Amino acid sequence: MSEPRPIRLALPLIDDEELREVEGVLKSGYLTQGPKVAEFEELIAGLVGTRHAFAMTSATTALHLSLVALGIGPGDEVIVPDFTFPATANVVIQQGARPVMTDVDLATFTMDPSDLARRITPRTRAIMPVHAFGLAADMQPIMAVADEHGIPVVEDAACAIGASYRGRQVGGFGALGCFSFHPRKAITTGEGGMVTTDDAVLADRIKLLRSHGATRKDGRFTFEAAGFNYRLSDILAAVGVAQFRKLERIIQTKRELADQYRDLLSGIEGVAAPVEPSWGGHVYQSFVTMLDDRIERDGVIDRMRADGIETTLGTYALHAQPHFQRAFDMRPGERPNSYRAFRQSLTLPLYPGLSEDDLVRITDVLRTAVARPIPAA
Ligand SMILES: *Cc1c(COP(=O)(O)O)cnc(C)c1O
Repeated sequence: MSEPRPIRLALPLIDDEELREVEGVLKSGYLTQGPKVAEFEELIAGLVGTRHAFAMTSATTALHLSLVALGIGPGDEVIVPDFTFPATANVVIQQGARPVMTDVDLATFTMDPSDLARRITPRTRAIMPVHAFGLAADMQPIMAVADEHGIPVVEDAACAIGASYRGRQVGGFGALGCFSFHPRKAITTGEGGMVTTDDAVLADRIKLLRSHGATRKDGRFTFEAAGFNYRLSDILAAVGVAQFRKLERIIQTKRELADQYRDLLSGIEGVAAPVEPSWGGHVYQSFVTMLDDRIERDGVIDRMRADGIETTLGTYALHAQPHFQRAFDMRPGERPNSYRAFRQSLTLPLYPGLSEDDLVRITDVLRTAVARPIPAA
């Protein structure tokens, strides 16, 4: 009997379209930030519905530059959800400010708005909700808290390009929105990111700081600020332009696969499929399930890998990571929902190349893997 084909967790959809776009740039001789970046930015601004979009080298640099543009520095607090990829909080620390972690809602894995309201202090200078795994955070109550206190919102939309909240695209709710084009996201440029904003002053600052703090007049540079080089190359933007044409199809296919997954998972005890809350718009960057506490999640990952199926945890509980524990004197479990999601979440493979047969195989292997009892300690 032949070994079944291994199933990867995620697989970008790359073909000749990307190659042709890249070839055009390479032959043009213009390789740094240029016309392809401008074209890619226009596409993203058009989708998100903001006046401006600025391409960056990653979502992490997009988030960092957003905080710099807002003037976040030492003594400031920035509120982030505890259950997120650590980059969300690392950029706060890099500005000398303090990340303040809220717990998350376990049904949606996003910032708990009532916990947010409790953690506002006179030092709070920004709120950074995360649109987790392609699902928007509950922006209505979050924006209400932010507006009540006059605090700017930076949306970490790194994994949520194309996601919407009550019919409106994410990335346009806060003062700034940040996207990623890492290969694990819906569309990719290899590495890459984007900042979106409607604010003309913030837009000017972002533009200046993205490229060495330099302005150019009559072919001469003047340096106005200690800026960065966070520019995206036209080579990568060309990949982004080709990828963008596929975005709608990718999201549609992933949503259909997610529905099939939900049907297949409904018969497996102890495994909860992701829910789509009232605000909708989930684009399933990742399909993240929750396992009952009696199931040892890491054992499930190992058993599924032995059967050729790649899975992983959902994401990380910041407060339980060594750096955050040491720097902010936190103990594992202080954000109980986040901690539980960190230990019991399981991401299943999801990308357009998967067939219904693949999903049947994945869920069959999962059914067997979760049925085993926890080994004695
Ligand atoms: C992927 C991701 C990031 C980091 O994106 P990069 O482009 O790799 O820097 C940050 N935050 C969240 C929520 C993410 O999913």
